[in-house]
Amino acid sequence: MGIGLLLSSGIGDTIRVSLTGDPVEEVRVGYEILKSLNLRERGPTIISCPTCGRCEIDIISMTKKVERKTKNIPAPIKIAVMGCVVNGPGEARDADAGIAGGKGYGLLFCKGKIIGKVKERDLVDALLEAVHDLSPQSNL
Ligand code: SF4
Repeated sequence: MGIGLLLSSGIGDTIRVSLTGDPVEEVRVGYEILKSLNLRERGPTIISCPTCGRCEIDIISMTKKVERKTKNIPAPIKIAVMGCVVNGPGEARDADAGIAGGKGYGLLFCKGKIIGKVKERDLVDALLEAVHDLSPQSNL
């Protein structure tokens, strides 16, 4: 937050993030800060639902898998992983690729359009395939 406040005030042009953990994560977090301030576009931005009583799929493990599988994509791409068909489609439609989970099935979106209704167990792979089609160098 401190780094973000300074950067958003136009102060500083080099950042160093310190974490207790793998230094590789420091680089990732640094980029996340720059992305959230619209100062740098790099890699995927994942929008995931915070879950609520409407969620009918295992959104937490699905989001973790999408995060893990897409973390090395260099090109900026917006990916939505949403848990229901009530509020999910809006975010999923707004992303480059997204899913909105339903009961046993989910909708797959690409560039604002529904491109399929997919079984829950195949939903993440279908999303990753769509992401790969949009960023062929991604090697997912
Ligand atoms: S997208 Fe659906 S499941 Fe997720 S928080 Fe919003 S309403 Fe709840």
